[in-house]
Amino acid sequence: MNVEQLSKRLGTVASFIPKGSSVADIGSDHAYLPCYLAKQGHITSAIAGEVVEGPYQSAKRQVEATGLQDMIQVRFGNGLNVLKPGEVDCITVAGMGGALISDILEAGKEKLQGVKRLILQPNVGANSVRVWLCRNGWELIDEAILEEDGKIYEVLAADKGNPEAPYKADMERGLLFGPFLLKRKESAFVKKWSLEKENWQRVLSQLDKAQPSTEVDTKKAELLRKIRLVEEVLTNEKNKRA
Ligand code: SAM
Repeated sequence: MNVEQLSKRLGTVASFIPKGSSVADIGSDHAYLPCYLAKQGHITSAIAGEVVEGPYQSAKRQVEATGLQDMIQVRFGNGLNVLKPGEVDCITVAGMGGALISDILEAGKEKLQGVKRLILQPNVGANSVRVWLCRNGWELIDEAILEEDGKIYEVLAADKGNPEAPYKADMERGLLFGPFLLKRKESAFVKKWSLEKENWQRVLSQLDKAQPSTEVDTKKAELLRKIRLVEEVLTNEKNKRA
């Protein structure tokens, strides 16, 4: 990899890292992100954590190939287990499902002491990350949404603070859509939720053909609620543009 250049997705993650940070990149795989940050002189040091042998070796090779061993330590282990409390002031977890990111943070809570910023990039299920942040005293300070290679990604940045502050307008919508993303309603946001809505409508029409049961009714009601929420959000957007 050319560490001078990152993918748009990882570049967006990098853009939320304060200059001069010490960073832990959990689930680092190829360690592109810490290598890029170190090469740019943007961070003072980094820890690249990996729980799978292949990606761990790949991270080690990348750090050696770029000559960054003095700045980046590659550690083998599950989630935040690779860290000692107070070792870093910024943690990134990117390229996994939102539920897994939340599980990693939950299991490693005691390692978050002294951490000032979390930058989380769930591939799916960003709402479960927002819920975790909210329940654990982390205030979402900004979000980004982007499209790359036909996929849409969300990036969430949070600092210790008042977790409810960004959700004053509407907690339920904020947790689902992202309070900052909801305000901006960029084209990637509109595309993501139009696709989600189509997907839910497909599931709904399949459930219409299923054997009636309380479970099916509950699932249908939940899907309908979410479809209506998306319709409201996207219709407001169309009206605004008209
Ligand atoms: N973060 C990189 C990125 O965004 O390009 C790599 C993403 S890759 C799809 C996910 C990586 O997370 C894999 O290398 C996987 O082994 C690692 N991983 C998954 N669960 C983990 C955990 N509990 N602790 C550490 N690493 C984990």
